[in-house]
Amino acid sequence: MRLFIIFLIALNLWGCSQQEERAVPADARRPLIFIAADGLEWSVMEPLINDGKLPAIARLMANGSYGYLESMIPTYSPVVWTSIATSKSPEKHGIEHFVYSHAGTQRYYTSGHRKTKAFWNILSDYGLTTNLLGWWMTYPAETIHGVMVAQTNTTGVLDDPKRALWKGSLLRGVEDQVSPPERQNEVMDILEETEASFDSLAGAIFGAAASAPMSPFTKLMWDQSRWSFRADAVYVRVAERLLSSKEPFDVLSVYIGGPDVAGHRFWRYAYPQEFFSPPAAEEIANFGRVIDDYYIHLDRMIAALLAAAPEGTSVVIASDHGMHAINPRGKFAVDTAPEEWNSGHHLDAPAGALIVSGPGFVDATPGDSLALPFARASLQKLGGVFDVLPTLLALKGIPIARDFEGRVLTALIEPSWLEKHPVREIDTHDDEAFEAARAARIKEAADQAERLEQLKSLGYIR
Ligand SMILES: [Zn+2]
Repeated sequence: MRLFIIFLIALNLWGCSQQEERAVPADARRPLIFIAADGLEWSVMEPLINDGKLPAIARLMANGSYGYLESMIPTYSPVVWTSIATSKSPEKHGIEHFVYSHAGTQRYYTSGHRKTKAFWNILSDYGLTTNLLGWWMTYPAETIHGVMVAQTNTTGVLDDPKRALWKGSLLRGVEDQVSPPERQNEVMDILEETEASFDSLAGAIFGAAASAPMSPFTKLMWDQSRWSFRADAVYVRVAERLLSSKEPFDVLSVYIGGPDVAGHRFWRYAYPQEFFSPPAAEEIANFGRVIDDYYIHLDRMIAALLAAAPEGTSVVIASDHGMHAINPRGKFAVDTAPEEWNSGHHLDAPAGALIVSGPGFVDATPGDSLALPFARASLQKLGGVFDVLPTLLALKGIPIARDFEGRVLTALIEPSWLEKHPVREIDTHDDEAFEAARAARIKEAADQAERLEQLKSLGYIR
């Protein structure tokens, strides 16, 4: 009997220490917005910052730290973003491309294929509220402490490379895109609203270019970009709605894919001198500013999110890679293979951008406004894509796992914070409960594939 009591006490103590381990310090409960900006490129931002066209980003830079974020190979966005979210290489996290082969056909990866916890799982374990919007390979949506809105792909389009949309969006009539499920209707209403107002939004972003006459090839580029701009508008509007509801949160992260897509499709219009077959002068005049205009729009979206966020919100802006010219001798014609259409690319892992600002982060620049001219030649490498997660966890007082491939970027965090909350370490954040849940999600996605086919045949989705 006495032994049994000792056993009970020991069990109780063990339970307490488990709970203690999973608590975060009270002063770590500060809101943070994490902008996941795909393909954000410093060479595009440099002249825009100097012209005062990115005021929100410039203000964050002036009150924080910024530089290059080293990317990785293979530089496919779903792979790199999953490495950012997990601090693991593709062999370990399991998302190795956009698609995988299954019984002779191609399938999109699902959230269940990710073999390790992402930051939204780890933050949830520690009781932190995370709202995650539009991130790669998050369908079916996972149950987290907060709201998750997935990026959903339709398997059917994979058969037709001319129509294949690599990035997903929200799709009407598909379950499991929003967690908790009772919030799906609210999110679908936002999808409807955004789609209804998208043409006027496109006019506001791109001015006359949105309705300018287009050659068949330019029309193709435009159609191949619009869906991405529309997806961004939906996820950002969901983010604004969540922020203006004033529901408390610890981390809100929204994925914005447009800078990457605009870069792929319109690089040649912005930088025609880099190509043997530049677009016609009239098309350069009409579409040479599409990339710049989208960056300006990104800046406005960031400003709107910050305006709706509580006082003292920290901000992280990270990109998975940069972007540069590709295919300088390309013909850029409708009848060429789809892989010949892009004039901007990133397969050789050009470094992306990292900007951190607000409570907890080091303000590396004197004064409240950025000293101009800003020159990207002066930028330093702050770290690599694997370092984002450990740094985020250190800022939240959560232990770093020894199975991470990155490290805490201590130079970006206020020294007083690290002194007060030294970085703790554990072996891993992964556990059996996560493993069981992900297997269930792979099955869920397979069941939905049939439903997607049905919707496609009805013409609801492409
Ligand atoms: Zn890309």
